[in-house]
Amino acid sequence: MLNFTVGPVMCSDEVLAVGGEQVPYFRTAEFSELMFENEKFILQYAKAPEGSKAVFMTNSSTGSMEAVVMNCFTEKDKVLVIDGGSFGHRFVEICEIHEIPHTVLKLNHGQKLSKERLYEYDGQGFTGLLVNIDETSTAVLYDSEMIGEFCRKNKLFYVCDCVSAFLADPFDMEHCSADVMITGSQKALACPPGISVIVLAPRAVERVKNRKVRSMYFDLANALKNMERGQTPFTPAVGILRQINARLKEIEALGGADAEVSRVAAQAEDFREKIKDLPFEFVSESPANGVTSVHPLHADAYEIFLTLKDQYGIWICPNGGDMKNTIFRVGHIGHLSHEDNTTLINALKDMQKRGLF
Ligand SMILES: *Cc1c(COP(=O)(O)O)cnc(C)c1O
Repeated sequence: MLNFTVGPVMCSDEVLAVGGEQVPYFRTAEFSELMFENEKFILQYAKAPEGSKAVFMTNSSTGSMEAVVMNCFTEKDKVLVIDGGSFGHRFVEICEIHEIPHTVLKLNHGQKLSKERLYEYDGQGFTGLLVNIDETSTAVLYDSEMIGEFCRKNKLFYVCDCVSAFLADPFDMEHCSADVMITGSQKALACPPGISVIVLAPRAVERVKNRKVRSMYFDLANALKNMERGQTPFTPAVGILRQINARLKEIEALGGADAEVSRVAAQAEDFREKIKDLPFEFVSESPANGVTSVHPLHADAYEIFLTLKDQYGIWICPNGGDMKNTIFRVGHIGHLSHEDNTTLINALKDMQKRGLF
């Protein structure tokens, strides 16, 4: 199997080996130790400010997006949501469900967020901002620093969904003054799905602690309280947390977060260079490192996905909704090499020779 999707992605042999072990009981000092170690690395790699906390949620990252909205905002807020694709739109839907007053800043697919566009919302009484730093559906990377400056100026509570950006694109939580960062196990963390991580800066910790949320499972104050002893309120995905531990140590041994970001950037650059001669267009005005969004000029994007999967054993990532037939995506995260890129390009060239596009 050769997997270029944006999650689940290919795991390293070491992470796979941990996945093959028996899953231990977790209310132990040893497991708490592992959780503290996971927290230490996550805070370090997010470049989180002093006093930040991480909680490990057993849900996919959409669950954490929802938990953050429920725990950080109320009907008294006025939130600006950046909606440039499926994931931005998901934040809009979450705000609707939880009746959080919000305004949508809508961008076309592939369009980047300019300073001019953002500052149309300057000084208008907003209290928070929700953004997916890499809008994975179109591979647009937003400028976390420029948005952070806007949030500081307007005193906004700044939530960054870094689910696919963490460890793939440069991100400095302290410098861009984000209050919350969300990521998940199956993107650049390159582990199986099942765990999502929420990093709370000190201001977010305070906000969450003082909030009575109407949910048992998504009560972040309870998660924070349990994490003081390296535990979770309920049974977590213990096996995935052990794989995450192996992976975080692996990243450390390879030079830490910045080295990992450079590795993903090089993987992306190699692919974009190799695909140039094929009849495809890049979609994103501001490409993220983790994924390339591609528009085939003479073929159906979903058909290309199916043919690669069924006839070549290679998985690229199809899109959903109204992008299904026009855009496919190729991931650069996970255990992939430049040779793997060549294998994919050769398959595409073979399809071209067969007259498929
Ligand atoms: C993958 C992803 C998510 C979460 O998706 P799940 O299916 O819930 O894991 C959220 N936001 C972004 C930007 C993503 O790339």
